[in-house]
Amino acid sequence: LTQAYLDRIAAEDAELGSYLHVDPEAALGRATAIDEAGTAGTGLAGIPVALKDVVVTQGVPTTSGSRILEGWEPPYDGTVAARLKAADTVLLGKTNMDEFAMGSSTENSAYRVTRNPWDPERIPGGSSGGSSAAVAAGLAPWAIGTDTGGSIRQPAALTGLVGHKPTYGSVSRYGLIAFSSSLDQAGPMARTVLDAALLHEAIGGHDPLDSTSIDAPVPVLAESARRGAGGDLSGLRVGIVRELGGEGHTDGYEEGVLARVAEAVALLEGMGAEVREVSCPAFDLALPAYYLIAPSEASSNLSRFDGVRYGLRVGDDGDRDLDEVMALTREQGFGAEVKRRIILGTYALSSGYYEAYYGQAQKVRTLISRDFTAGFDQVDVLVSPTTPTVAFPLGSRVDDPVAMYAADLCTLPASLAGVPAISVPCGLSDGLPVGFQIMAPALADDRCYQVAAALE
Ligand code: GLN
Repeated sequence: LTQAYLDRIAAEDAELGSYLHVDPEAALGRATAIDEAGTAGTGLAGIPVALKDVVVTQGVPTTSGSRILEGWEPPYDGTVAARLKAADTVLLGKTNMDEFAMGSSTENSAYRVTRNPWDPERIPGGSSGGSSAAVAAGLAPWAIGTDTGGSIRQPAALTGLVGHKPTYGSVSRYGLIAFSSSLDQAGPMARTVLDAALLHEAIGGHDPLDSTSIDAPVPVLAESARRGAGGDLSGLRVGIVRELGGEGHTDGYEEGVLARVAEAVALLEGMGAEVREVSCPAFDLALPAYYLIAPSEASSNLSRFDGVRYGLRVGDDGDRDLDEVMALTREQGFGAEVKRRIILGTYALSSGYYEAYYGQAQKVRTLISRDFTAGFDQVDVLVSPTTPTVAFPLGSRVDDPVAMYAADLCTLPASLAGVPAISVPCGLSDGLPVGFQIMAPALADDRCYQVAAALE
């Protein structure tokens, strides 16, 4: 199995650009050891997996898509990597991503362009675009992504995959290179809902090494996916979020996307679900709130990249002092979007502006959480498109950050509130995949899988 995927990578990836690092010898060595141990076929043993390059892997280059980490080989495994290793999966390689997970198209990677297998002139989504392209093109059976504001769900939607952002705190962040710590979550990207559930079960559950980890048992998800596949949703209450593509809120949404989403809702109704519209007024403010909170946290998290501790160091020639070396390293090591976020975040946190920007954004975050609470008083799940549009052409938004940020319109509310959300394919528009998003209350990830499986 590992050999088959390595062959496909060798044949296709020069063009596709989904991986940053593949070590065929190491992968085959591991696969052979599992064959010899005779465990292949028990659980996930022997199944290959690709990891987004934001996941720290012992002795395996980890860059988070940035020049500043070029050449860094971590001395330890992040929990997600460790759990997959303990399950005897085979690491195929590390996948491309927007630098430090900042982006929606993978075009902010310092290393390479990743293409959408459905149309090589289009983006595969981001920031987990290497993972989405690899799985969609059959260069990995499944992959791990991370989602801060949509980076699992959006690339999954744009490449026809299932992608789930778990409840915040339910998958360990230990050994994920931090972007925005109050938002980051790792999760599965797969071709089927059941696959996603199985991969999620392997990485989820409490971890004492992450102080925000929830002390709850590993969720039972595969069973929910199997149950959902039965197609009986009688008694399930579904709320369509008006603010995410509903009446009066269709600006920026493609007609084809809204049509596929309406068809998916009709299918849910046909399976016995009770559908109504739910209004979540604060969702309109999710985008500006996110683009204050995430850069603020990033500006603090990225201060560790100082040219001393990891990776790149520039100008250390004996004539320059420490400050100069740090400044030169950061100047050359970070790309434009990362610098934009650091500047935005530093500004939003600076004295005199803190209350006006960061403080306001935190208040909006509370309002969004309250909208979810009120919504889940009326319905079991909330639904929307995953993205306002299908995959856009490469290069079409790189010079317009605000247009790029709009790709996250539908995914940001669940991120800000920490609730689980899944994207499941719901058909094509102009020959390109459309994603349907299902959001549930915190720790009810099983509901996302159940409803998604019913639609599959
Ligand atoms: N596109 C969003 C951003 O650029 C979300 C990224 C993510 O979820 N990692 O911040």
